[in-house]
Amino acid sequence: MSGLPVLGSSAPWHGGAYGDRAMCVLAPNPSPMTLDGTNTWILAEPGARRCIVVDPGPDDDAHLDALRDALAERDLSVAVTLLTHGHLDHSESARRWHDMTDAPVRAVDPGHRYGGEGIGDGDVLDVDGLEARIIATPGHSGDSVSLVVPAEGFILTGDTVLGRGTTVVAWPDGDLGAYLDSLEILRIQAEAAQVLLPGHGPALVDPATVIADYVEHRRARLEQVRAAMASGARTAEQVVDAVYDDIPEAVRPAAVMSAQAQVAYLAAGG
Ligand SMILES: [Zn+2]
Repeated sequence: MSGLPVLGSSAPWHGGAYGDRAMCVLAPNPSPMTLDGTNTWILAEPGARRCIVVDPGPDDDAHLDALRDALAERDLSVAVTLLTHGHLDHSESARRWHDMTDAPVRAVDPGHRYGGEGIGDGDVLDVDGLEARIIATPGHSGDSVSLVVPAEGFILTGDTVLGRGTTVVAWPDGDLGAYLDSLEILRIQAEAAQVLLPGHGPALVDPATVIADYVEHRRARLEQVRAAMASGARTAEQVVDAVYDDIPEAVRPAAVMSAQAQVAYLAAGG
C-alpha cells in the first residue's frame, strides 16, 4: 500500500534502467494504492557479476520471470535481496524469490527474512564494489528502511517517499511522529543525493525539494486536521470528510488510516 495522489511527478512510468547502477522492473500490480505498480530495483556496479535486488514485489509469475530475464540479460546473479518493508506488494514473492535465486532475503521484520539476517540503521552492504547504506525510516510502517547508494547519489525510499502522491501512514503500525522524524533524516541525506528511487512511481530528480514538499504537505494537513477537530470532528471518518474533499472512493480507506495516524499524533500532543 502506498499513496494518495497529491504530490510528485505525473510523468508516465514504465521502469527501466536509471543511471549506471539501477534498473527498475515494474510489477504488473497497478492500483490506486500502488500507483503504476511496485518498483523492483536491481542495483549493481557497472561490469559487476552480482547485484542487490530491492523489493521482489508481488507473487506474480510474469513479474518474477521478467526479473529473472532482466538479470540474465545483464549476466547478473543476486547476492542479496533487501526489503524496504514488509507490506505484501513489496514482500509477497520474497520466499519464492529466495528459492529461485538461492540468495538471502534480508529485512527488518524477522517474519520476512529468508536465509538472511536483519538489517538496521547504518548497515553498509558492499556487493562487488556497489556500496549501499541502510537508513531506518519508520513511519509508513514500523519496519520501513531507505537505502543510500553514494556512488550515484541514489536514495531508494520504498514507500516512505513515492514518485507521485503522498504516502500513507499505515496506522497503527505506522506512526506519524516517526514518519516526520524519518522525513527529516531523509531531508538531510537528500542534500547530497541526485535522485530518489521510490517503491512506486517515477524516479525523481531533486530529492531535497521533493522531501521538503512532503514535509510541507504533512504540516499543512496536520493544521487542517487540527482545525477540523477544533470544529467538532471526532472520528477519523469525520476528519476525512472535513479535510479530504472529493477523494476517489478507492483511496478512502487509506485516507481514513492516515487520518487515524494524524488524530493519534495530535492526541499525543504532537
Ligand atoms: Zn507499496
